[in-house]
Amino acid sequence: MSESAPAPENHPAPHTPSAPAAPAGSAAPAGFHGMWRDLSGIGRDAGSGGYRRYAWTAADAECRDWFRDQAAARGLRYELDRNGNQWAWLGDPAAGDAVVTGSHLDSVPDGGAFDGPLGVVSAFGALDLLRERGRPAHRPLAVVNFTDEEGARFGLACVGSRLTAGQLDPEQARRLRDADGVTLAEAMERGGHDPAAIGPDPERLSRISAFVELHIEQGRALDLQDARVGVASAIWPHGRWRFDFRGEANHAGTTRLDDRHDPMLTYANTVLAARKKARLAGALATFGKVAVEPNGVNAIACLVRGWLDSRAADEQTLAALVGAIEQAAQERGARDGVSVDVVRESFTPVVEFAHDLRDRIAALAGDTAPVPVLPTGAGHDAGILSAAVPTAMLFVRNPTGVSHSPAEAAAEDDCVTGVAVLADVLEGLACR
Ligand SMILES: [Zn+2]
Repeated sequence: MSESAPAPENHPAPHTPSAPAAPAGSAAPAGFHGMWRDLSGIGRDAGSGGYRRYAWTAADAECRDWFRDQAAARGLRYELDRNGNQWAWLGDPAAGDAVVTGSHLDSVPDGGAFDGPLGVVSAFGALDLLRERGRPAHRPLAVVNFTDEEGARFGLACVGSRLTAGQLDPEQARRLRDADGVTLAEAMERGGHDPAAIGPDPERLSRISAFVELHIEQGRALDLQDARVGVASAIWPHGRWRFDFRGEANHAGTTRLDDRHDPMLTYANTVLAARKKARLAGALATFGKVAVEPNGVNAIACLVRGWLDSRAADEQTLAALVGAIEQAAQERGARDGVSVDVVRESFTPVVEFAHDLRDRIAALAGDTAPVPVLPTGAGHDAGILSAAVPTAMLFVRNPTGVSHSPAEAAAEDDCVTGVAVLADVLEGLACR
């Protein structure tokens, strides 16, 4: 944390969305404000002001209890699926043709309040609005909380939705380990969930005809367009590449500059090249993690290992960008006497959200004012599910543009608008 970060006690008020409280003596479930208040203290670190809600920890269990309570308060049928995802059903889940909305409740280390929870709270809020409007659903409606979306503890994102969609081998999932060596299987067992049960759930997905995830925007596009809510067009293809720069370890005090094979120089030059080439391509390239050997102040490094995260609007642009960064690294490495090896560690292809559902949602959401249709560079459960289910996303304006940080923000009015737009969408999909 920087020294200028606001003290936690000064922090919650300005960015905490609220809505009118339920009338005194009312047996109605908590409104948006009440739900937000109940969640806001769970897993929050007093020092950083950020959230540490990692999968299958005590904080996660508290969030999950909250979800079950919300389902019960509304008379919704609660269901825990084989992969630990939570569902709250209005109507008969077995009837099929369901409309599902929701997001996740876990967080990155010292994450913000909105990434995930805004989608779950808004989902319950939208069901409440439909009830207030007296709009009965003709199709089953459900709120979902996908487990372990951020992958903060076991290093793999979207575990709950990947398992459900058959995009993650259950045995591989069970063997994932956290920083303390605890496997996902052990963590699940401690959380009261049977790890032997996890795996694909095609039958469940076949009963869903639309999934809509509302999410805080993780950028400033809506703010720049002066719009409260937007609709996602696509998730950019993205990947991670490991660059190994190998030189020669030597003494920092006795080795002449001309005699060095210093991989740090090649690495530094590659970081700058990545930035410049990404800007020219209208794409993103980030070296955010680095490991150095021997990592001594008075030693020229023998190995610098840097991880590149890169994203672009289409796969050709991404491939060309990463190729150009690698070429720049090789050229500089030749000058420095440093070898460069590049390994692609992961890749996620472009996700184009179902065009007819996207267009329908943009029309339903834009009843009062047109909503921008935006691409995003961030992965989501909606992206995973889109391979099996027609899927769409709504974004709510984040004036700071910051995400995965306590500085993530949304104004109360924008959150309330998001709930109303989500209710319009659910009404259009399930009540007409
Ligand atoms: Zn999220």
